[in-house]
Amino acid sequence: MIEFEQIPFGSGEQVTLPVGLEVEGVRYKEVVIDELCGIDDFNVADKKLGGNSAKGSTVVLARCIQEISGLIPRKKNSESKLEVDYLRRMTLIDRDYLLARIYHLSGREQVCLAGECPRCNRVWEEEAALSDFPVYSWPDDKALGVDFEFKLGIKDPKTDIFQTKGFIRFPMGRDQELMAVIENPAQALDSMLAACITNLGTIEKIDSESVKRLKQRDRLAILEVFQYEFPGLRQWKEVHCQCGKDFEARLDLTSFFGGRNQKKTKY
Ligand SMILES: [Zn+2]
Repeated sequence: MIEFEQIPFGSGEQVTLPVGLEVEGVRYKEVVIDELCGIDDFNVADKKLGGNSAKGSTVVLARCIQEISGLIPRKKNSESKLEVDYLRRMTLIDRDYLLARIYHLSGREQVCLAGECPRCNRVWEEEAALSDFPVYSWPDDKALGVDFEFKLGIKDPKTDIFQTKGFIRFPMGRDQELMAVIENPAQALDSMLAACITNLGTIEKIDSESVKRLKQRDRLAILEVFQYEFPGLRQWKEVHCQCGKDFEARLDLTSFFGGRNQKKTKY
């Protein structure tokens, strides 16, 4: 497991991305952002987005990002939008951190932390200060993902041998957009896993069908990787329920923009 370096949450319009946008092998990490304005509400409400919360995030980022040092010069017109392709190629880790920083720059500090106690089912909602959540950066010389040893793995149909050594790449903006339109959460998760497991021993192609054969222990272990081994803004906090149980409540970044009525997909 990689030792994380913690970076300050930060303030102001200069942002250093935890991972960096990779274009032709170079990672660009320094970004200038603008705070939200009425145009962003207008952009997010565009019917063409079809209520897709991930696409909503993409248009907010396309408008609010003003510069990516070394890649995109400072915009002449701050209202213009960046090519969305850059945002689809950006990791979810960087996108989430940018959204949090834009929200913060726009004068919002409090966020809602929510969850449900797994023992007594009491619903937990708490206001928390965004800047209290730690942010972890990813080393520039590390690939955009983590090596992963599956407990049981998947059988290679050609050899009948279970394959257990794999690689899980970071989810990207394009994965999030695709997943957000899938109604069934289990199916959305399978699509995400199929996209992000880019290597599994001798198995040539990982698709939703192969992912369906993953045993529950492996699936849970992968979700733990997403939660604990990926860098970026830590989006959970341990809370203590009245019944005595400690559990993790989560930040909902999709509720920052476009209200709470939009369709949300969690993985
Ligand atoms: Zn409880």
